[in-house]
Amino acid sequence: MHLHIQPCVLCEIERVQYGRSVCGDCWQHLNIQPRCVTKQDIELIATTTYQYPINKIIQQFKYNHQLQYLRLFKDLLAHIQIPKVQAIVAMPISTARLHERGYNQAHLLAQLISNTHKIPIWAPIERMKEYSQKGQNRAERLTNIHQQFKIKPKQGIKYRKVVIIDDVVTTGSSIQALKTQLELLGCQKVYVICLAVV
Ligand SMILES: [Zn+2]
Repeated sequence: MHLHIQPCVLCEIERVQYGRSVCGDCWQHLNIQPRCVTKQDIELIATTTYQYPINKIIQQFKYNHQLQYLRLFKDLLAHIQIPKVQAIVAMPISTARLHERGYNQAHLLAQLISNTHKIPIWAPIERMKEYSQKGQNRAERLTNIHQQFKIKPKQGIKYRKVVIIDDVVTTGSSIQALKTQLELLGCQKVYVICLAVV
């Protein structure tokens, strides 16, 4: 029998069992603590707190093309309960961001859940240009963020129960803006999952 033994995605020294991404030592060091928190009156499920070293790992994944960390994120997502939904909605990024980065990190996470749980990915909302929010007050920032999300023209199938997936949730205002648009489309239940919450 062929054994699929892979190196640990973090230390690269230890070998890990098939299906696992990191060795026991690295896993302990990560100090993963799944949490349920409320932001902007929205309940969200986070696989862990945004803290060292997972914050650095997520930044490497997001800005530095370190896509091998998807193996680790798959393990993190396996530690939380995925709600029973009809579709997964990845937090959209603007076309400009997509070109600059080459991928939407939230979409890659959505694919992990989609593959494991056989739930389709649904992308009915697009994100317009993301302006810098520096120098704006809170009300201006909220208006700005709500204006970034638009329902795409020509919607085919519509889902009622969905889960939003995002990598990191800080204030929750982009989640709230996306949720508002999904509700306008007729969604009755919108769950939220993120890798890490601040
Ligand atoms: Zn390791």
